Amino acid sequence: MQLTEWVRFIAGFPRSRPRQIMSTIESNLQAVRARIAAAARAAGREPGDIALLAVSKTFAAGEVRAAYAAGQREFGENYVQEGLEKIAELSALPLIWHFIGPIQSNKTRAIAEHFDWVHSVAREKIALRLAQARPPELGPLDICLQVNVSGEASKSGVAPEEVRPLAEAVRTLPRLRLRGLMAVPEPSDDIELQRRRFRGLRILLEQLNAAGFGLDTLSMGMSQDLEAAIMEGATIVRVGTAIFGERVKT
Ligand SMILES: *Cc1c(COP(=O)(O)O)cnc(C)c1O
Repeated sequence: MQLTEWVRFIAGFPRSRPRQIMSTIESNLQAVRARIAAAARAAGREPGDIALLAVSKTFAAGEVRAAYAAGQREFGENYVQEGLEKIAELSALPLIWHFIGPIQSNKTRAIAEHFDWVHSVAREKIALRLAQARPPELGPLDICLQVNVSGEASKSGVAPEEVRPLAEAVRTLPRLRLRGLMAVPEPSDDIELQRRRFRGLRILLEQLNAAGFGLDTLSMGMSQDLEAAIMEGATIVRVGTAIFGERVKT
């Protein structure tokens, strides 16, 4: 290459960078969609029956925008304040926001007013507060109960034997619509262990449905284990790293 070509080449970098970030998210999204489709086919399921939730925690509104430009509509957030800022900044876009993090009682109002779904309900008191705070004009807040399917290895979620009474309580609350169950099993490279955890959640859902609950959602599977989750019946996979890249630990 001649010197003048080099200069033009180097000078081109700053301009092409935003475009490159966009296309990374876009190609990551395509790769994740392909993984979902392949796992669905392997499980004899329709790829369209599995929704992709893009977990945008720690990433900026601009990255959510890039995912939106690549066709993504549903986003998950773990931290209330961070989520509220992005929801406000992106309010012109037709996005669906899911709250998937631990819930403190003093944050229930903000969640009920600004999110469409909550995946992480594990206590009746929290459900009650969400119901009280949900503005009626927004329509029902879609709810999943977070279940601890990993026993001692995890602290978050309701114990499997407490799911039924919690579901009974949530079902009676106004302005909430109980949709199903969610779990975050302990990380593992053992696909059989992953599948066992997810199967446990599916069986709990089947038991509730046998008792007439009419639930349609199994929120399970992340970047590392979405295939195992889809094999066991996931209807929503929650994927962060495989779309947006590694999170910087804070
Ligand atoms: C962060 C997070 C995810 C996404 O995890 P990745 O491994 O980055 O795909 C999914 N669900 C919950 C509850 C999370 O906190």
